Amino acid sequence: MQSQLSENAPHFIGGSTTPSASGAILDVDSPWTGQKMGEVSVGKDEDIQNAVQTAREAFKTWGSTPVKQRVQILYRFKQLVEDEIDTLAKLISRENGKMPAEAKAEIEKGLEVVEYACSIPNMPVNNILEVSRGVDCYSKLFPIGVVAGITPFNFPAMVPMWMFPIALALGNAFILKPSEQVPFTPIRLAELLKQAGLPDGVFTIINGDAETAKAITQHPDITAVGFVGSSKVANWVHQEGTALGKRVLAMGGAKNHLIVMPDADMDITAGNIVASFTGCSGQRCMAASVLVLVGDSEPVFNAICEKASQLKPAENIGPLINPAAVERVKRYLDLAESEGGKFAVDGRWYKADVEGEGYFVAPTIIDGLNIDSACVKDEIFAPVLSVLRAKDLDEALEIENQNPYGNAASIFTTQASNSQYFIQRASSGMVGVNIGVPVPREPFSFGGWNQSRFGIGDITGIGGIQFWTQSKKITQKWSARSSQNWMS
Ligand code: NAD
Repeated sequence: MQSQLSENAPHFIGGSTTPSASGAILDVDSPWTGQKMGEVSVGKDEDIQNAVQTAREAFKTWGSTPVKQRVQILYRFKQLVEDEIDTLAKLISRENGKMPAEAKAEIEKGLEVVEYACSIPNMPVNNILEVSRGVDCYSKLFPIGVVAGITPFNFPAMVPMWMFPIALALGNAFILKPSEQVPFTPIRLAELLKQAGLPDGVFTIINGDAETAKAITQHPDITAVGFVGSSKVANWVHQEGTALGKRVLAMGGAKNHLIVMPDADMDITAGNIVASFTGCSGQRCMAASVLVLVGDSEPVFNAICEKASQLKPAENIGPLINPAAVERVKRYLDLAESEGGKFAVDGRWYKADVEGEGYFVAPTIIDGLNIDSACVKDEIFAPVLSVLRAKDLDEALEIENQNPYGNAASIFTTQASNSQYFIQRASSGMVGVNIGVPVPREPFSFGGWNQSRFGIGDITGIGGIQFWTQSKKITQKWSARSSQNWMS
């Protein structure tokens, strides 16, 4: 069990921690104990104006600093993060509730993006062609200015690191609005960026709630907004931001389908599926949520249930983020029961034992549902797996295609022909074969489809380079002769 620790998370403006001008704060509670563990400042108009003004000043120099020089700071930042990775993992675990090993893995995933950003100076990202006699056209990437990222509670380090390393390497001044539920890790990352040599004002944190995020989305001097969170909010940020002429990429929620073929390898499949729906207590946008069993897949299903029922909250599964999340699970499990669901693994035993001791729930697998059941349609964001059955792969794909989200989907099979058929037809931006959490490693971009993403492109990899820059197209002619015009 985590220790209780009092902390506060101010803003980080102009290279210094800064409390809200208004003094507004919110409590931050520990998911492990339900007790208050600290306070977070809530950014209001005056704080945001101050932050944007400071970032605009810093951008003037940072935006024209050579990229090779900019990434030296990111190399040093990566080393500083690695030096204190265990402490950072404990910090993430304490405020978010995931197990320390899961927190460490999150930091390592974030550092992959830092590595990618460090390699930008060595990438031939600009094109040059001789388009006519003696005439060259080339394109050059430029930063867009003061940009912002608004991030969710479930990855306090990794999701901010999807955005700021690439945005900073490319010369932007970056303002982060972390989730008010996990504000402590981002402040430490800001301090490490400063320690690595980042000039003051280039990286800013404005803490706060939905109102703070709205004010950032609407601020006229913020030219681009990256958002990660639930679909409803992602849709709003995208609509509002683009209506105001900004560039917006907003990643939303998910309902990931995992399809099991009768020929699937039992151990690989059971291990991957259980890890996928229970890892980080199911609070991952890449978590398995609907299991589609094709034909006779009973032996694999039994192995999945067996494995899942061995997991114990607080021992190998952390708590959910807050009491509302626990209530949401209870509501969906009640609904499943009323809709005729059968609890193949029943996590409801757990709640009676630990009332008041943190926000724990146990893994639950519900069979006997249909495609219209609430547990099959909605994002629950907890270790709950809903099971559907299909007579063949076509029917399984039809189920996957019908769901409005499109973050991830996986197939478990030992036949390449099944896998090819699935890859071609799954309606998700990230698909896996015999992998429960098919997160691409950089340089392959992270990004879903459909209601899991609002805007164009992906948030990391080449998608990140395109999102955080604008290109200038240059046409030049040297040694001009008066007898030739540029079209000759
Ligand atoms: P959330 O949408 O409640 O909050 C995300 C951010 O938006 C926070 O910083 C919050 O302060 C702010 N916010 C909340 N309400 C707002 C509003 N009305 N207007 C403007 N801003 C608002 O999400 P969450 O609960 O923190 O995170 C969980 C969600 O994030 C899940 O739906 C999960 O699937 C999704 N997620 C998606 C991805 C992805 O890449 N697709 C990755 C991680 C998490």
